[in-house]
Amino acid sequence: MFNSSSKIIDGIQHSKNLLHRVKTLASVSEDFNKRKPCIAVILVGENSASEIYVKNKIKTANNIGIKSIKISYPSSVLENDLLSQIKKLNDQNEVDGILVQLPLPNHISEEKIVLSIDPSKDVDGFHPINFGNLFLGNYTMLPCTPLGCLHLLKKELGSLSGLNAVIVGRSNIVGKPMQSLLLKENCTTIITHSKTINLSEFTLKADILISAIGKPKFIKKNHIKPGSVVIDVGINRIKLDNKNKIVGDVDFEDVIEKVKSITPVPGGVGPMTIACLMYNTVKASYLRNNNKFKEVIFDE
Ligand code: NDP
Repeated sequence: MFNSSSKIIDGIQHSKNLLHRVKTLASVSEDFNKRKPCIAVILVGENSASEIYVKNKIKTANNIGIKSIKISYPSSVLENDLLSQIKKLNDQNEVDGILVQLPLPNHISEEKIVLSIDPSKDVDGFHPINFGNLFLGNYTMLPCTPLGCLHLLKKELGSLSGLNAVIVGRSNIVGKPMQSLLLKENCTTIITHSKTINLSEFTLKADILISAIGKPKFIKKNHIKPGSVVIDVGINRIKLDNKNKIVGDVDFEDVIEKVKSITPVPGGVGPMTIACLMYNTVKASYLRNNNKFKEVIFDE
């Protein structure tokens, strides 16, 4: 019988390994600065998925020696009140990272909120200054999910130079920054989207295939180049046999025999996103205090 376990890229284990290193960096930062690195997390409204994400982020921070401050608002909060709160956090020297959990209620402009965060504390890497730096190849704060994907790819493949990387999805938080990171790793990159005609014509060239579209089990074996590495970013909630289930964008069972390796959902990219948020928080604590920081996340 075919054994798929050897092909699984274990995001839980990789995230634990990374967090172990971040914990050491956090403790060195504490010695330097006489205080723990600190992240402030703002949660607006009662979105149950957001509440779970925030809870996991705070728990992880506390486990590895990062101080966390949670600030909750009802969904009726005024945009101006949120902006004043962010300004206060920007001005507090002991706060290294600020994260506003998205999505926000419709009456609040996400763009305005992201723009109001001090770029040196923008641990999500969404501020246009950090985004621009990424595209210039000057890495400041990098967005957590693409950073986590890159880390997994380097651990899996070593050097990525010369490989064909195809990204499905062109969002600002995953697809576009992912392409930029892979370009800097000397991949030949193609980015595809919902208007791409004949998607498989592109994906069949992919040594590395990254899917971030939000469509359950959309990627099938007819999209896959034999021996490729597949990173499934999608998190899709579906009902199967009357039970709630989370599946990725990739039809795992359909593609598994064809791939070299693949991230599962859950247990692949998701845990890496949180680990990278912690990495960014500790990195911010170093850089804001003029301490030298080695980007261990890019180690192979
Ligand atoms: P968006 O909805 O912002 O973007 C989806 C992208 O997929 C768009 O560019 C869209 O194209 C493209 N797309 C949609 N349908 C198709 C199709 N049939 N063929 C090709 N491209 C298509 O999503 P996000 O980037 O925010 O998230 C994507 C998925 O990743 C979601 O499931 C989300 O939950 C998950 N996610 C997981 C994270 C993690 O930590 N694991 C973190 C962030 C997201 P177009 O631009 O033309 O509309």
